[in-house]
Amino acid sequence: MNFQTTEEFAKQLDRKDPLRKYRSRFHIPHRDDKDVIYFCGNSLGLMPKTTEEYLNRELAVWKQDGVLGNHTRWEPYHEHVTESTARLVGAQPSEVVVMNALTVNIHLLLVSFYQPTEDRFKIIIEKGAFPSDRYAVESQIKFHGFDPDNALVELEPRSGERCLRTNDILNTLRENENTVATIMIGGVNYYTGQAFDMGKITETGRECGAKVGFDLAHAVGNLPLSLHEWGMDFAAWCSYKYLCAGPGSPGGIFVHERHGSWDGPRFNGWWGHDKNTRFNMDPDFISTKGAEGWQISNAPILGLACLRSSMEIINDIGMLALRIKSEELTAYMEYLLNQLGDSLKIITPSDPAQRGCQLSVVMNNSGKQVFEKLKVKNVICDWREPDVIRLAPKPLYNSFSEVYQFVEILRSILQTR
Ligand SMILES: *Cc1c(COP(=O)(O)O)cnc(C)c1O
Repeated sequence: MNFQTTEEFAKQLDRKDPLRKYRSRFHIPHRDDKDVIYFCGNSLGLMPKTTEEYLNRELAVWKQDGVLGNHTRWEPYHEHVTESTARLVGAQPSEVVVMNALTVNIHLLLVSFYQPTEDRFKIIIEKGAFPSDRYAVESQIKFHGFDPDNALVELEPRSGERCLRTNDILNTLRENENTVATIMIGGVNYYTGQAFDMGKITETGRECGAKVGFDLAHAVGNLPLSLHEWGMDFAAWCSYKYLCAGPGSPGGIFVHERHGSWDGPRFNGWWGHDKNTRFNMDPDFISTKGAEGWQISNAPILGLACLRSSMEIINDIGMLALRIKSEELTAYMEYLLNQLGDSLKIITPSDPAQRGCQLSVVMNNSGKQVFEKLKVKNVICDWREPDVIRLAPKPLYNSFSEVYQFVEILRSILQTR
């Protein structure tokens, strides 16, 4: 794609954007009567205008009918998002379920997919993984009586580099092939924005005899995924980032079909019980098949209602169309940022296959001050210690003109430093 530096060119890209009408389906935060430029959809996606209606419908049932809502409506409520979720992540409906919060789900999946033995006890993660993931795997290792000092292997970029090379990842897996129990990596790293080759990592990991899982918090709704085909054992994600389901709304899990009739270790609860006989309230646990067997508690209906509203929009567009715009929007931002010369450096890979929508930018000197000034100018992005500004132009609602305006604001900030 050949980009140009003019404002008119940004407007032209917007006019040609087949997804431009979707922006009006979201509430865009504003300040001083002006829309802010919101590049923080990787932390909390914006609210669809239909969300209140979806939520109010469930509140009205509760208000009107009390517990009767359980029987008439809510018991199978999570199933409303099963098919759209499966399509979004490239899975079969029986391989996914929406439940709980992300870190909770990581623990529940590790109960099943991290079963260390004397010989095979290591977990491989990426260094610089989201802290919660690291806390989770470290505590799992300790829970099983092993020592993170030798059981936790962290994939580290080469010295002087910020991102991991696929071959280095695969080599580390092979070096640990007799001792690795589980691999759990982010699909897209939250800090650098690097997307990993999930197919290759899964293939090599499984050849090494490990269970392979991914944290897809920054991948789901950002990249097209083929979880079933890639063959990973498990995955988990949250819905409030790229899926716009609102703060604390429930996450999702994937468990590959080959584990569909699971009889290994798992923490059980009544919602994982065979649905046909769940309400017989028998003391014996009879598992439902597929990913739903990992459910423990009854579902958070209000969060699910919010998720339904946003999944309807995402479904309407489809992940492939989203990705086409996303690649162009991010490449355009990259192009304009590169015009600003060496006052900043993009650490996210420039290869579109190795990133989603996010660009992570290191400002030479005073990055924090630049970030604060952006905030004053109504640009919402985020700052991650020690030196990174994360920018996530999202194809659902961000425009090319916003990217243009943002870079102009940044240019003026850099000039007046
Ligand atoms: C956002 C995020 C989390 C947050 O976990 P919660 O349990 O939803 O609070 C965890 N891991 C990664 C990789 C994330 O990006």
